[in-house]
Amino acid sequence: MPISRRSLLGAAGASAALAPVTAQAQAKAQTKAKAAAPASSDKVGFAVVGLGKLSLGQIIPGLKVARNARLAAVVSGHPDKARRVAAENGLPADAVYGYDDYDRIAKDPRIQVVYIVLPNSMHADHTIRAFKAGKHVLCEKPMATTIADAEAMIAAAKASDRQLMIAYRCHYEPQNLGVMRRLRAGTLGKPRLVNTTMGRQADPADPSDAWRLDGPMSGGGALADMGVYGVNAARYLLNEEPVAVRAWGHTDPADPRFRTTPDLIDWQFRFPSGALANGSTSFNYAPTMAFEVICEKGRLIADPGAFYGGNRLTVVQGGQAQPPTSPPENDQFAREMDWMADVVRGKAPMVSTGEEGLQDMRLMKAILDSLAQDGATVKTDWGYRRAVDPAVVVDVA
Ligand code: NAD
Repeated sequence: MPISRRSLLGAAGASAALAPVTAQAQAKAQTKAKAAAPASSDKVGFAVVGLGKLSLGQIIPGLKVARNARLAAVVSGHPDKARRVAAENGLPADAVYGYDDYDRIAKDPRIQVVYIVLPNSMHADHTIRAFKAGKHVLCEKPMATTIADAEAMIAAAKASDRQLMIAYRCHYEPQNLGVMRRLRAGTLGKPRLVNTTMGRQADPADPSDAWRLDGPMSGGGALADMGVYGVNAARYLLNEEPVAVRAWGHTDPADPRFRTTPDLIDWQFRFPSGALANGSTSFNYAPTMAFEVICEKGRLIADPGAFYGGNRLTVVQGGQAQPPTSPPENDQFAREMDWMADVVRGKAPMVSTGEEGLQDMRLMKAILDSLAQDGATVKTDWGYRRAVDPAVVVDVA
């Protein structure tokens, strides 16, 4: 059943592309959210694990404007930072945990959901520990660095009878949802080709990029970090699963950034309907998070298509480009966390399942396998079908 999120959308502030929300937008959003939100005690408590760029820039601010979710605890390896962040957000001193005493969250009834926002190689361990502590888990993308870890996370969720959601924010973002709905309605005819470009320049001097350039910690460099958006988008735009993939790439052996991860990868997916998808990713090209869908009778160009805010859609029909549109101001992170809160309270279906994350892990492995074989075709029809289409259940506005 669709859940209305109109008041949330009205309350939330859009951010600049891949940057924190502006102070003004955030303050406006917080004022409106206070008026619209239920009492804090009625909200689902989230523990945020890892206090890096995403947590500080997007997730904790998102929890301030969320309608149904609230910050209940922080978990960090840096006690000073953790205490400061807790104090700034009105948390008591006993809501601060370190990685070593993290398992004590089992005895903390304030925490219902644990949000894992750590380097990718640390997702599985902290997810499984949270399930053992009896908590639900929202885990950042990519779900893990290996298929075995992803499978272990799904098994741990089942064993503890708790919910596992992968943080695919675009499943809750109005522009992406609008494009999905337009494609499902078929007004532009059948979708024939999807193009996705997801990448940027990585800076090895930035600690947040250093682990992303490390093979074991990231699980695949640009592909794992940015390319995963294109892999996931091709699937949710077409609402079907690829049956085959082939991939080419280029990594400059003289570039010290790419000692353990590949750089530029360009892949093609073949879908059962006959549609094709081209995807590319790189940590050595100009920043882009864009996609285009070419249908029989028109084109949808989303550029940007997956930024935190300021996304823009151009529809081309009958040879005419319509004026670009942008979705209303919204906080995708708040929308995503509110959805998780509603799943936990039995008010919404799980959309971004662990199996969705595993499917992307398996497809990224297939891309890397094809890359290693100079573009050989790798079959990918192992029978996965998504349980719930975001376009059907998640409100656009
Ligand atoms: P970050 O490097 O800024 O933060 C990572 C945090 O983990 C830091 O606080 C760091 O201190 C901590 N940490 C603990 N052990 C560490 C270790 N051994 N090495 C490095 N850091 C360690 O990263 P981030 O940008 O916040 O990304 C965190 C997660 O969020 C990643 O999984 C990433 O893919 C995901 N992410 C998602 C989005 C999105 O739009 N959904 C955007 C950015 C990042």
